[in-house]
Amino acid sequence: MDWKNLPGGGNIEDRRGGGGLPGGGLAVGGGIGGLILALIAYFFGVDPSIVTGGVQQPPVQTQSQTQTGQSDETYQFVDRIVASTDRTWTQVFQQSNRQYTKPTLVLFDQYVQSACGQASSATGPFYCPLDSKVYLDTSFFATMDRRLGGGGDFAYSYVIAHEVGHHVQNELGIAEQVERKQRAARTEAEQNSYGVRLELQADCFAGVWGNSVKGTDAANLTQDDIREAINTAAAIGDDTLQRQSQGQVMPDSFTHGSSQQRMNWFMKGFQTGNPNQCDTFSLPYNQL
Ligand SMILES: [Zn+2]
Repeated sequence: MDWKNLPGGGNIEDRRGGGGLPGGGLAVGGGIGGLILALIAYFFGVDPSIVTGGVQQPPVQTQSQTQTGQSDETYQFVDRIVASTDRTWTQVFQQSNRQYTKPTLVLFDQYVQSACGQASSATGPFYCPLDSKVYLDTSFFATMDRRLGGGGDFAYSYVIAHEVGHHVQNELGIAEQVERKQRAARTEAEQNSYGVRLELQADCFAGVWGNSVKGTDAANLTQDDIREAINTAAAIGDDTLQRQSQGQVMPDSFTHGSSQQRMNWFMKGFQTGNPNQCDTFSLPYNQL
């Protein structure tokens, strides 16, 4: 993937270099704040309960590190991918006479304050619908390289496009409807099932973005790139993550979908390029 050929111009907020916590820090860790974050933020593939554990300890204020600024490669990369998703979704929304409000991506390290609460690097990438921002600690890319499917630039792009997919759901009012259904759910399994549908749709939306990049000669997307994204989708399936952490798989507690489901829905979006194919809510749950 030749991402450097893609034009930049995304909304990027660079909070790297010790800007994570406001002085005094709001006391939201672990209690209500953590709970709210777990409920309303949408996570990439990491168990939201990590959030509560992750922010209880007030972090040591870090010295302001070297300000990386807009010239470093990570910034450039993220900026181009976000700008690319902006173009994709602006076009899709235009086709149905809607206006797409572009999200902001916040780059951070260690800790970050979002409208959904505080989060740490351990949280993994997430989207907060209250401020319409995607939060990304770029050390997550290194985590992907080491143990989540092997990484690669198109795999990183898939992570960003998945979070942007949650923004699209927010823009379309889907997230709100799902939240209502989740609140009305009688069992935890039922509640989780809505979460899985939402996550798989975000994967499919990421695929829709991938399809639009595939059509751009400049991006030069290869089979290896597609394999990277598939490997990531497989590595962050709930069944795979559970097997690694607990040694067994409990489908009722799935919140993101299985490896197979995540790969399938990403590919559905990628092959069709049509967001209407991403209806993960009409199918019976066992046919997702
Ligand atoms: Zn997600």
